Amino acid sequence: MKRKGVYESLIGELARLPGVGRKNAQRLAFAIMRLDPERARRLGQSIIDARASVRPCARCNNATDQELCEICANPRRDTTRIMVVEDPGTLHQIEHTRTYRGLYHVLTGVLSPLEVVGPEAVDPGPLKARLADGEVREVILATSPTVEGEATALFVTRELKPLGVAVSRIAYGVPVGMDLEFADEVSLIKAIEGRHAV
Ligand SMILES: [Zn+2]
Repeated sequence: MKRKGVYESLIGELARLPGVGRKNAQRLAFAIMRLDPERARRLGQSIIDARASVRPCARCNNATDQELCEICANPRRDTTRIMVVEDPGTLHQIEHTRTYRGLYHVLTGVLSPLEVVGPEAVDPGPLKARLADGEVREVILATSPTVEGEATALFVTRELKPLGVAVSRIAYGVPVGMDLEFADEVSLIKAIEGRHAV
């Protein structure tokens, strides 16, 4: 069997990262090959350091190198709201919009009805514990509009309802700038369901 070359392994490792894909991996590998050796070393070292020191926030599971993440540790955040997301990547996307000032809860997993991944993957216990003192008034479910995301939102809603907290789901619909004629049926249905008074 032919041994895989170093360059091929680099492409292979990059391609295994979520959302990268073979073509982007080739582009990244090519860019890395052109770095001067010191920058390449720093890139490698920052991957090793991040992997070694980043852990889940003790309160919300966001990725951090401290006991509590920046958001949980920030006294200016609105502590009456918790937004539930599937992963730290979604959290960062929402933070980037600067429209939300509340707290977050990153789930440890999502339900997958097709792959028979059950509630044990989601573990709502830590989220429920955060609602115990009654300070949180609203939980906003920001899971993806996928089969997994919808099943997870439904499950979390059922878990939280008996606690008396208001549970809401973010609206889904048609991307801004898209001609409605070209929107897919499910997105259109979601957009109609999520309508609001004007
Ligand atoms: Zn946190």
